[in-house]
Amino acid sequence: MKTVPVAGVEIPTGHFINNARVDSKRTFRNTSPIDGTFLGEFSLGSATEVDRAVTAARSAFPVWRDLGPKGRGEILERLAKLIEDNVEILAQIETLDNGALLRSHRRGVMPRAAANIRFFAEWAVNELKHEPFETRGHTNFVSWDPSGVAALITPWNAPLMLATWKIGPALAAGDTVVLKPAEWTPLTASFFADLTIKAGMPAGVFNVVFGLGEEAGAALTQHPDISRISFTGSVPTAKVIAKAAAENLTPITFELGGKSPLIVLEDADLELASTLAVEQYDNAGQVCLSGTRILVHEKIVEEFTKLFITKAALIRQGDPREEETQMGPQIHSDHLARIAGFVERAKKDGANVVLGGQPNSQLGGLFYQPTLVMKPDPRSEIFREEVFGPVLCLQTFANDAEALDMANDTEFGLAAIVVSGDRDHAAKFSKNLVAGTIWVNCFFVRDLRAPFGGSKKSGIGRDGGTWSFDFYADVKNTVIAPNGWKE
Ligand code: NAD
Repeated sequence: MKTVPVAGVEIPTGHFINNARVDSKRTFRNTSPIDGTFLGEFSLGSATEVDRAVTAARSAFPVWRDLGPKGRGEILERLAKLIEDNVEILAQIETLDNGALLRSHRRGVMPRAAANIRFFAEWAVNELKHEPFETRGHTNFVSWDPSGVAALITPWNAPLMLATWKIGPALAAGDTVVLKPAEWTPLTASFFADLTIKAGMPAGVFNVVFGLGEEAGAALTQHPDISRISFTGSVPTAKVIAKAAAENLTPITFELGGKSPLIVLEDADLELASTLAVEQYDNAGQVCLSGTRILVHEKIVEEFTKLFITKAALIRQGDPREEETQMGPQIHSDHLARIAGFVERAKKDGANVVLGGQPNSQLGGLFYQPTLVMKPDPRSEIFREEVFGPVLCLQTFANDAEALDMANDTEFGLAAIVVSGDRDHAAKFSKNLVAGTIWVNCFFVRDLRAPFGGSKKSGIGRDGGTWSFDFYADVKNTVIAPNGWKE
């Protein structure tokens, strides 16, 4: 078994299939976005390894299914506890791998990864029930039955958190799993795989295949023995996966990109509004939910912009392992180039960049400055497409009707943030906003009981509570007649 030393632990670099490591001859290179440090050569999966993983998951399915929610729950509770016991190491390796803040990984992200596993295990035992009901003396029993092998495909911006957000409900529903993590961030998936053995997971229930999306990811989504495909990533990839799923009519759930509006109504508290707007730079702007289109009432735009720029200019960029750092690097040189390309094209088209607008020359490497583009053309790509970097656009509106039109004038519908000083005004304004999640005077408050997902091109399906089980499980109705019994 090949391993690499990262942050004081040995991380296996091979796929995880049937509770054992499988090394491929071909590998891909993994480096840290913080300073380019080499982190290891990981096995590059092909259709062969994917088939092996799916076969292992299929063989393990009856065992896992027959354990029932309680038996599975005991193993998943041990797994959640193991994540909690390893928060520090998981936080350190995730930060090295994706460059997000160490303190966020320690305090928020890794505890949430444990919660993702525990919550769905408990939900399957305690909440997943439907009262039986009668039809002309016959009794209907509704059940959520395990469906088979779930293929899970995840991005790099919150690798373990987003993976466990799928692994938790899939395993709790009784499905077995093949995970294909993003090629830029394989570390925590590998570490997590070893935790599943420690938790007592039967062999084959959880599998990981590393590799490129176009090869390993494609082979997984095309596999005829997959019962579900759950994907988080970009819209172009989702279109490719939807075609693969169509071939076998495999059910899909998609959590995709966004270009969410943050609307500052005329009666908003501008201190709060500007603080919330600056929070949209979180994770160096690499957050699907970010409110990257800031829409401000024209009467307050001057004061808002002054407050915003004062706060944004104080953002401390640097090494994400340091406590005082507020913004780390972008994930990869390709991604940095993509972000810079958007801003350069906007400048060429005459956009007014009032903050940032280029890579951070002092820090070098993969750091890009927090950027604000003032009043770009509403039809321009910078205002319409997902940049997925620290680049926000600001537009003004004259009244609520115009603000609503602008907010909804997008192909996305993941989230919207409304800032207002009046409850009724905020409620009235939010009513016709099209998005999976609306935050009023807040951002990023998430509860696993709530539905989460995107409208329009931001996704298909909802996760959270029973919605997750509606996807991963086969929902079945058993109708029992009153007659025909021998007793
Ligand atoms: P991506 O679509 O490039 O890749 C995501 C995953 O898909 C990776 O594991 C990749 O290897 C795999 N993949 C690529 N091509 C594939 C193919 N042909 N078949 C199967 N799998 C394939 O996205 P990314 O750049 O890793 O992530 C950023 C995107 O993810 C952004 O658009 C962001 O908004 C979105 N995102 C959405 C949410 C959400 O909850 N809605 C959360 C995080 C990120």
